[in-house]
Amino acid sequence: MRLLVVEDEARMARALERGLTADGFTVDLAGNGVAGLARAREGQYDAVLLDVMLPGLSGYEVVKRLRSEDNWVPVMMVSAKDGPYDQADGLDYGADDYLTKPFDYVVLLARLRALLRRQSDPRPPVLNHADLCLDPATREVTLAGEAVALSRREYELLEFFLRHPDRVITKTELLDRVWDARGVGYEPNTVEVYVGYLRRKLGSGLIATVRGAGYRLAR
Ligand code: CA
Repeated sequence: MRLLVVEDEARMARALERGLTADGFTVDLAGNGVAGLARAREGQYDAVLLDVMLPGLSGYEVVKRLRSEDNWVPVMMVSAKDGPYDQADGLDYGADDYLTKPFDYVVLLARLRALLRRQSDPRPPVLNHADLCLDPATREVTLAGEAVALSRREYELLEFFLRHPDRVITKTELLDRVWDARGVGYEPNTVEVYVGYLRRKLGSGLIATVRGAGYRLAR
């Protein structure tokens, strides 16, 4: 079993390497998000242990990019409890499991082994909404069986709505999560424009405006 450990804290990285090697794994280390993404793309890993707060490229961005490239290597995210994100964020971005620092090594090992056991069918489930169908594995979208061509951003916006069908989503959240804006560089108007594109391609009733709050997927 070959593992990639992406961790910028050298002491933590070395401790993990020592422990996991002793438990029979082959371990490669990457000290930042860019290096981690490059190694993970090489595709020879059975699982990736991915820290969230990394210099260069966050763990979230790494897992999001892997999934957008149709790379389904099992990913366990590791993050400090007091970080700006929570567990749901990591799983939304495509991580398979999530561990909070500080953790017990024995717990990590058990969760990692469970993760490796479940990998019989790593293909993600297709998302459906009425006669709309989105396949995260192929990034294909169909409406009543007809293929619909979406830009990358339109696709990611639609996927986000389909993954959160039961609640109102604010423009700020969409900017953070779909545009990775974290409050800089984009206007809320950007979201309106892209929601408009989706309505034009997929039907004006798909996404409802909730005045003063945001949007929600129509029921
Ligand atoms: Ca870190």
